[in-house]
Amino acid sequence: MGGFGSGPQSNQPATSEARRVDIRYLRKRGLLQPSCAGRLNWSCRGEPTGSIRYRVEQNGETLVLDYRVREPGAEWEQITIAVPLESVPCRYGGGRQYFCCPNRRCNRRCEVLFSCGVYFVCRKCCGYLYPSQKGDKLDKLREARDTLGARIFEDWDGSYGWQKRKGMHWRTFERLSRRYRAIDASWNKTYCDMARELLGGDAALHF
Ligand SMILES: [Zn+2]
Repeated sequence: MGGFGSGPQSNQPATSEARRVDIRYLRKRGLLQPSCAGRLNWSCRGEPTGSIRYRVEQNGETLVLDYRVREPGAEWEQITIAVPLESVPCRYGGGRQYFCCPNRRCNRRCEVLFSCGVYFVCRKCCGYLYPSQKGDKLDKLREARDTLGARIFEDWDGSYGWQKRKGMHWRTFERLSRRYRAIDASWNKTYCDMARELLGGDAALHF
């Protein structure tokens, strides 16, 4: 299978190497129903590079992630994270589930959790926790993305939004959304490169 977490357009091996959990993948496959459980796998060029266990608890209100990590020179450590799930009404009816960042001081709504140290957090928290030589580029991309996001999304919360700003023409919104997604993709690519450097390829996460 392709790299887990690379999203609906998952024929993109470039993004499959960094460890991410993408709620779009889980939604699309109906894996967020109460009591769902299983294993999520990452791969790189067809080779498995890690996996974690997940289960949906509290009648669909929490996604529990279970995995082992080993930091360089240390023993294996068992980690369990409870990720709150939030259901948000859709424009066309029904609800759509989102993660809330497991960093309790953040709790931001998000679609992708990034492996950061031994935890998984939203990209905003991850940006703060991952200083590196690529940090400048990442900061610039984040700034560009967030400035545009604040301009075009009605429900922009500082790092995420999807509703068209009131009064903006749909055509304008669609054009700027495409630009937003392009910047976001570029952010992801930079993040993945950085994470790969920091994690030393296939190190760190294993179950
Ligand atoms: Zn966060």
